[in-house]
Amino acid sequence: MMKVELSHTRATSELHRAKEWLPLWSYEHIRLNYKAFSLLCLYAEVMGELSPQENLHDEHGDFDDTMEGLFRVLSNAVVHLEGRASQKQCDPWSELSIFLGKLLIEQGVFPIRDNCVFCDKVLNTQGALTLVTDHGGFSCGECAEHLVEERGREHLSGLQEGRELWEILGSVANQRYQELGALKIENPEVVHTLLHYFYYQFHFQAHQFKSLKMIL
Ligand SMILES: [Zn+2]
Repeated sequence: MMKVELSHTRATSELHRAKEWLPLWSYEHIRLNYKAFSLLCLYAEVMGELSPQENLHDEHGDFDDTMEGLFRVLSNAVVHLEGRASQKQCDPWSELSIFLGKLLIEQGVFPIRDNCVFCDKVLNTQGALTLVTDHGGFSCGECAEHLVEERGREHLSGLQEGRELWEILGSVANQRYQELGALKIENPEVVHTLLHYFYYQFHFQAHQFKSLKMIL
């Protein structure tokens, strides 16, 4: 991580010149762990897709803080990844799920967890739950059954992985990034369901993220 001061450039120039730079923090263990390094590449790809184009010639750019949230998630993700890699406990599924969960919170599209998105029933006492991607949250088993009868399984998680994802996202939402250890993910479909939700929210396609195949 570096602090860079850019010099003024001509209004017609698209070249960003670094006047001064200062290293603030660097990782040691990520580079020695193939999966951790692939995750870092994926984080960079995701941030590249979500970040707006920087305009050096925008006079009001200094007052724009819309990027702060993304920076915070990325910064936390890299520090967390380095910590897990240094303890040789880097579980890519867990790291990716935490990253995506924190990103969804930051972007304001975290799945609704408290109540069923259809009947408003409180969900923490319900056994079977389904993530309904195109409704932005979880549904109780009963409403999910009706939905499957009506339109099939498109944009719906399975009942078992729905419950597991609901639990995992609860941990991600209620704990600070660096307090989270490894999430216990028993069913790999949970990660695929979360990725599908993430793509849907931001109109992404899986093929946009080349590093993903090195992780999953
Ligand atoms: Zn319901």
